[in-house]
Amino acid sequence: MRTLSVLGATGSVGASTLDLVRHQAGAWRIVALTAHSNAADLARLAVEFSAEIAVVADESRLSTLREALAGTGVEAAGGPAALIEAATRPADVTLAAIVGCAGLAPTMAAIERGGTVALANKEALVSAGEVMMATVARHHATLLPVDSEHNAIFQCLQGNDPAHVRSITLTASGGPFRDWSWDQLCAATPAQAIRHPNWDMGAKISVDSATMFNKGLELIEAHHLFPVGLDKLRILVHPQSIVHSMVEYRDGSTLAQLGPSDMRVPIASALAWPARMDTPCEPLDLAAIGELTFRKPDELRFPATRLAREAAHAGGGMPTVLNAANEIAVAAFLDGQIPFTRIAARVESVLNAYAPPPPASLSDVLAVDAEARAKARLLMETA
Ligand code: NDP
Repeated sequence: MRTLSVLGATGSVGASTLDLVRHQAGAWRIVALTAHSNAADLARLAVEFSAEIAVVADESRLSTLREALAGTGVEAAGGPAALIEAATRPADVTLAAIVGCAGLAPTMAAIERGGTVALANKEALVSAGEVMMATVARHHATLLPVDSEHNAIFQCLQGNDPAHVRSITLTASGGPFRDWSWDQLCAATPAQAIRHPNWDMGAKISVDSATMFNKGLELIEAHHLFPVGLDKLRILVHPQSIVHSMVEYRDGSTLAQLGPSDMRVPIASALAWPARMDTPCEPLDLAAIGELTFRKPDELRFPATRLAREAAHAGGGMPTVLNAANEIAVAAFLDGQIPFTRIAARVESVLNAYAPPPPASLSDVLAVDAEARAKARLLMETA
């Protein structure tokens, strides 16, 4: 039996992960499950999976969690320090699925333990970049990509020398607005933005998918995970979300990974790595799908990928700033404070207003993140 902790257990990736565990009865023992404030669902999951500990990051929810877990034998804890402590408990795999930079410190704590971290929380890697990758190397940790595109690339690179890579192509569904005009985009509502055509995901990543910031963050994520050079990283819109990404080699061979639009496939690949496991996912039926299409992204309507590429080229703290500004802008959009098309404009304004020195440690990254958020909020108030 292997052991597993899920950081962000009450979210969309958390639910997919625990569903796989449910289908592999007896294969996993759950160490820690965490949430932000959803104490009721967390308690239900902790009891169902007989977790060792359940943690709510929002300490004001601890009494509710304690009450719900009374007499069950599951330990209850709350607050940022408890979250870090849970992340450092020994587990064969720690699934990092908290949304946003809020997941950075616990993810880094799991990496510092030197274990295997299956990473869904892309914002953590985008924010901490070199600091995180250096920590992985220093502690001999294993970082396995869960994001479907990066998991696809990881699979396509197996058994090959990265020196022979000519290009890596990240595919993008294009989101719910890929065919919308600029005027339509200006009037797009949060409800429309979170209705993704192919994937069932949390609200933040759904908006990122609609703006294409998701692909921008993924470009930076790929730059760290697969250091073949930014110029070799491409983005291609593929509305069916069946080809999850591809790697082209110097001899002209292109390897792609295909699968249903179901996060349980890349999660299973990371959980079982380097072996394979069964999943309850529908098999891929290409005859039923019929057509796979591809087109270039439109960076005029969706400037996010250009901004991300520029931030990646600039390096240092600029990806941290991009991520923080995007998190604030997405929250403001979901709150009805700014229109959809202002998200990228706000991020660009913060990138133009703040160029911090390169962060050298986790605390530097968190300081840049906090400053960029403050600048983004100020811009929101004054604009
Ligand atoms: P959700 O919003 O569905 O879930 C987020 C999880 O993080 C919840 O458990 C939530 O707890 C917890 N959380 C939120 N804020 C905090 C905080 N401040 N401190 C501690 N925990 C917190 O997100 P997703 O599952 O969609 O995404 C998770 C990550 O995975 C993101 O980085 C996303 O980009 C990435 N990802 C997601 C995919 C998907 O299909 N959903 C695909 C590929 C990557 P609570 O429920 O209490 O709020």
